Amino acid sequence: MHKLGLICFFNDLRVADNPALMQAASGCEKLICVYIQPPDDLLEGFAIAPTTLRRQQLYQSLDALDRSLGALSQHIQVIADGSTEGLAALLERFDPCAVYRSEQANWRMQTRWDTVVQRFPNMVFCEITSHTLFESSALPFTIANLPSSFSKFRHQVESLQIPEAIAAPLNLPPPITTPDDWRQRFSSAEQRPSPPIAGGEAAAFRHTQAYFASNAAQSYKKTRNALDGWGNSTKFSLWLACGAISAREVIRQLRLHEAQQGANESTYWIYFELLWREYFQWYSHRHGDRISAFQGIATSTPNTSFYPQRFRKWCLGNTPYPIVNACMKQLNDSGYMSNRGRQLVASCLVHELALDWRYGAAYMAQNLLDYDFASNWGNWQYLAGVGADPRGHRRFNLQKQSQTYDPEGHFIALWKGAECEARLDHVDIVDWPITN
Ligand SMILES: Cc1cc2nc3c(=O)[nH]c(=O)nc-3n(C[C@H](O)[C@H](O)[C@H](O)COP(=O)(O)OP(=O)(O)OC[C@H]3O[C@@H](n4cnc5c(N)ncnc54)[C@H](O)[C@@H]3O)c2cc1C
Repeated sequence: MHKLGLICFFNDLRVADNPALMQAASGCEKLICVYIQPPDDLLEGFAIAPTTLRRQQLYQSLDALDRSLGALSQHIQVIADGSTEGLAALLERFDPCAVYRSEQANWRMQTRWDTVVQRFPNMVFCEITSHTLFESSALPFTIANLPSSFSKFRHQVESLQIPEAIAAPLNLPPPITTPDDWRQRFSSAEQRPSPPIAGGEAAAFRHTQAYFASNAAQSYKKTRNALDGWGNSTKFSLWLACGAISAREVIRQLRLHEAQQGANESTYWIYFELLWREYFQWYSHRHGDRISAFQGIATSTPNTSFYPQRFRKWCLGNTPYPIVNACMKQLNDSGYMSNRGRQLVASCLVHELALDWRYGAAYMAQNLLDYDFASNWGNWQYLAGVGADPRGHRRFNLQKQSQTYDPEGHFIALWKGAECEARLDHVDIVDWPITN
């Protein structure tokens, strides 16, 4: 039993099914709970920061976690900066005997953690899997031998036993001091009581339970590609990304739904999509810093350039492609975009606008409420042709996609996608203004 433990929360903002918290609960006499704030350079060197919407959602998630901890006579002690120096300062300040955290599929966070572990040889560091369905030790291959495509991965893992989601601890070791006022890190706008999508563990449970109580899951496979509509896809990502709910808990509820309302192709497909998420988590572990490298895991760099004006137009939803504009405006306004929308805007950025895919990934990293490091960079790489796509690259026919997914033009009209300049470029190849 350690005299003093410290738990670092990051993208596991929950008390239920949090194995790191459970281990801390039984492993130490006193416990300090800390939220680790991602440093700015986590966004891969792109000068961007999360939007107010996402900070609002984060605030709500932390507030909810603090309340759940409060019911166990604990609290979030402090918000620490997740840089190497920030982590080292945190450990120097509290000098815990043991440090607990959930494993991260994020090479930058991992590199920092590894550096800090070496700097404090007398502390015990415990990393526990909590963001994925499977433990790495249960996978039928080593991470170095991760299958090169999703299909191969799925065939090898889909019938593996998924560990049961565990309940919240009944007791926690007491804190050592009264909390610092972590709320001061947030502006009053971010502390607004009701952001558009409520964050936090209780909200995640309410949402998943309501979803499975409805019959939306029974037709998920048919509706999931819709560009809009709350019930057309699960929206679980909005809580999975920050770990307000675990993927294992979602599976537990899915199995319960199947037992009560019946299993079919659609309910299977929810599991199928969660396996995509799973694949990208292990993919990120496997490929480390190559997940955000221009060349990705390919053998040559993509043939793109950088046109600041085109990129700006893409961000604002002012390209010659109404469907792309509508999706981008939806993202800018709400912090959400459907999976189909993400595929279309990514294809547009890479193929129609010939831009560097990492700028698109970074823009989504800034704006998505459900931003998840591995899912975002992994999907972008895939679509840019430098990732795990066995076909090399995917170029979507935007005209055809509009006819299929928005045949009446309702989505485009709703988000004013057709309100755009007809011309893409205002300068020519040698930077002269185009006047006619
Ligand atoms: C360019 C691009 C960027 C993306 N960035 C992110 C991101 O930052 N965060 C994120 O969670 N997802 C990301 N995705 C994946 C996917 O678009 C979202 O998970 C999905 O749209 C979220 O809505 P939903 O929960 O209703 O999904 P549903 O269709 O209901 O799917 C259920 C769950 O399966 C998982 N899932 C589904 N599709 C994928 C996928 N392609 N990759 C990984 N997981 C998947 C998600 O956890 C999702 O919540 C990205 C996809 C693309 C093409």
